[in-house]
Amino acid sequence: MKSIPNILLIYTGGTIGMIKDVETGALRAFDFNNLLLKIPELKLLDCNIETISFEEPIDSSNMKPEYWIQIAEIVESNYDDFDGFVILHGSDTMSYSSSALSFMLENLNKPVIFTGSQLPIGDLRTDAKENLITSIQIASLQRYGKPVIKEVGLYFEYKLYRGNRTTKINAEHFEAFASLNYPELVESGVHLKVNYDQLFKPNTRKPLIVHKNLDQNIAIIKLFPGISNTILESILNTKGLKGIILETYGAGNCTTENWFIDILKEAIKKGIHIVNITQCSGGSVSMGQYETSSKLKKIGVISGKNSTTEAAVSKLMYLLGQNISTNLFKTIYETSLRGEMN
Ligand code: ASP
Repeated sequence: MKSIPNILLIYTGGTIGMIKDVETGALRAFDFNNLLLKIPELKLLDCNIETISFEEPIDSSNMKPEYWIQIAEIVESNYDDFDGFVILHGSDTMSYSSSALSFMLENLNKPVIFTGSQLPIGDLRTDAKENLITSIQIASLQRYGKPVIKEVGLYFEYKLYRGNRTTKINAEHFEAFASLNYPELVESGVHLKVNYDQLFKPNTRKPLIVHKNLDQNIAIIKLFPGISNTILESILNTKGLKGIILETYGAGNCTTENWFIDILKEAIKKGIHIVNITQCSGGSVSMGQYETSSKLKKIGVISGKNSTTEAAVSKLMYLLGQNISTNLFKTIYETSLRGEMN
C-alpha cells in the first residue's frame, strides 16, 4: 500500500496566527492549537500532519539567530521521521530566516517551506489558508518515492521561491515577496507547475549537517551620496567587528575618493571581510566593469554577486562561524553554496 507523506508543521509566530488584543487593538500571537481549529481543511489533505510550536510564538521582527538555531534543531531532531517541513513564520524577517536556514542545513534532502500571511487566519479575507494549504501540498510532493523539493523554499501568494533568493517587497499587498534574480520553483494555479530545471540538486548521498555556529559581529553599510568619513571610520573601528556587507550603487560601484577606499583598505588589512552587494533589487555586482568599482576589486573586497541582502548577511554569519582561514574566506564566500548567487 502506498504510504502518504508525513509533514511537520512548525509554528514560530507571525500574523498568520495572531489575534487583535481587545484592549489595545494591536496584533499579538495566540495559541497554536486554535490555529488548527480555524483550518478544518487541513484534514482533507493527502498527508499526515503533525504540529510543533515555539513555546512563546514571536512576531518575526523579534527574530534572532537563537531562534534560527531552535528551528534548525526541530528539523534536525525530526528529520528522519518526516518527509517535509512547513514553517509558519511572520513575513517581516521571513527572507532572513529562510536564507539563514538554507546555510545552516547542509545536504538538506527534504523540503523546508517557509510561509505566513498578510492577514490573520481568522480574517474573512485572509491569505493564510491558501498559503498554508499549498505549502503543505508542495512539501508533500513526491517523485519516485522521494521529495521533489530538496531545499529551503518560501511560499507566498501562489509562488514557491528559493528562500535565499527572496526579499520582502511590500507591507500591504498579498504578493509580499519577490525573487528578482531567480525564477520561481513552483507556480500554483489550477495545477502545481514545478520548474524542475531550477530546483536545487543537493548531493543525496551525504548526511544532513546542521550548522549552529553563527557569528553576529557584522554590520550592513548602505552607501548614499554624502556618507561621512567619520561615521564610516567609526563603524569599521567597532570592537570585535569581523565582517561588513557593503551595499553599493548599481553594478557594485562607489565613490572613488581616496579617504573612502583608504578606510576600507585599512579594515581589510585588519582582517575584516567586506562583501560588496548592490542596493538595486535586481542584477549583480560586477567589480571592474566601471572605474568606480575597480579600486574595490584591487583592495580585496569580496563580490556578493547577485545575492540579496538577506542571503549576504546570513551567509556572512554562517561562514564567520566556520573558522575559515582569511586566505580562503573570499573564495568560499564567492562560491554559491546553496544556490544563493550566480
Ligand atoms: N509583524 C509580522 C511578523 O513578521 C508580520 C507578518 O507576519 O506578516 O511577524
